[in-house]
Amino acid sequence: MPKNQAVTPQADELREAVAAGFPVSVADLSGLVRIPSVSWDGFDHSHVEASAREVKRLAEGTGVFDEVDIVQVPIAEGARLGLPAVIATRKARNGRPTILLYAHHDVQPEGEEEVWNSAPFEPTLRGDRLYGRGAADDKAGVMAHIAAIRALVAVAGENLDVGLVLFVEGEEEFGSRSLHEILRRYQDRLSSDVIVVADSGNWDLDTPALTIALRGAVAFNLRITTLDHASHSGMFGGAVPDAPLVAIELLSTFWKKDGSVAIEGLTSHDEETPEYDEEKLREETGLLDGVAPIGKGAILSRLWYQPSITVTGMDIPNIRNASNTLVPSVRVRVSARVAPGQTWQDAFAAIEAHILSHVPHGAHVTIEDLDSGNPFLVDTSGWAAADAMETFEEAWGTEAVEIGAGGSIPFIADLVEMFPKAQILITGVEDPDSRPHSPNESLHLPTFRRAILSEAFLLARLNART
Ligand SMILES: [Zn+2]
Repeated sequence: MPKNQAVTPQADELREAVAAGFPVSVADLSGLVRIPSVSWDGFDHSHVEASAREVKRLAEGTGVFDEVDIVQVPIAEGARLGLPAVIATRKARNGRPTILLYAHHDVQPEGEEEVWNSAPFEPTLRGDRLYGRGAADDKAGVMAHIAAIRALVAVAGENLDVGLVLFVEGEEEFGSRSLHEILRRYQDRLSSDVIVVADSGNWDLDTPALTIALRGAVAFNLRITTLDHASHSGMFGGAVPDAPLVAIELLSTFWKKDGSVAIEGLTSHDEETPEYDEEKLREETGLLDGVAPIGKGAILSRLWYQPSITVTGMDIPNIRNASNTLVPSVRVRVSARVAPGQTWQDAFAAIEAHILSHVPHGAHVTIEDLDSGNPFLVDTSGWAAADAMETFEEAWGTEAVEIGAGGSIPFIADLVEMFPKAQILITGVEDPDSRPHSPNESLHLPTFRRAILSEAFLLARLNART
């Protein structure tokens, strides 16, 4: 392979094509946001089917694919079906590489609607931002791919030689349960030289980023039981431990005084991080005056390269039902992030050992409903990463930065396992204020436009690469 070209071929024409197509891209994105394609159990999955059909229609509309299919496979051999994904493929010609463009068309639940400033599934423009569930994560990723392909088609015309695979998953927000089976069954069709995962974010509104590190995740329910029935807390309180007492005591052993993780055996990754001060952390998270940050070391190393552990839910009587009772059993959802360099299995073993050796008063504990994913470090030594960094700079007019992500994209480890030779690029349309998964999720439209342009540039470079 030759060294990178200094500039993208037909860059000016691509800029014009992206600009001309942008209003339609935003309208198509709005159409996707209107479909409440929540992939979680207990939600109406006919909406996920509808969004798969819409993605298929958009893929067909580009006119470049030889085959466009909705695929739905069991989550494992002989098990129930997963949710529908879309695979569209076009074979490479004249020795050009093939690029796989990944995004997902399912979304997280909208949560409490009253906290939204506009209806979650009614795309709403305020200032430069389009609000709505999925407006950023990850329907904008889907549309960035479609819009970049449209621009390339408009400019390359007959000379479209790059191989294209569009792969839009339908259950990323619910653990990508059938993904492994999709990759296995469609391995040939999905096979590619470069994989772009458009499901991450940018440094800020002016600075593009390539995501090079992701933390892994381990989450589980912890059931704590001390009594076989509830008793009057006045009659027996003080002589037998109730479950909340044990839970509070046990959970408090997870953290040191400074809030960093106190579980022995969880490891950190040693890597420099960009400058990021406490003020920025306060601004981006809404940390209240007087409330101190937690952890130690550079702030970004806490977010990208150190483990963390969070309690994300509890089943315990609510205050309305709080009678004077010793509560016999509680459930706690524990969600931990695993630093790059440690497997989730290793991290889970450390957490489990910690729990079992710290249970107070001999209470009964069980661990249930384990979800997991491995952390990932991207190999940035290949030509695709260099091309991506250059096209970012060309499209944004600012040098791109390499970033880690505190969150996890567990399926990336699956992709790497299935396609070990492919170069992986993790890009995205989000910015620090996009609030994916939260109320008032939004997409910054100028960032969206630059993300489309970067990807169109990348496709044009691959289309010329021999
Ligand atoms: Zn996502």
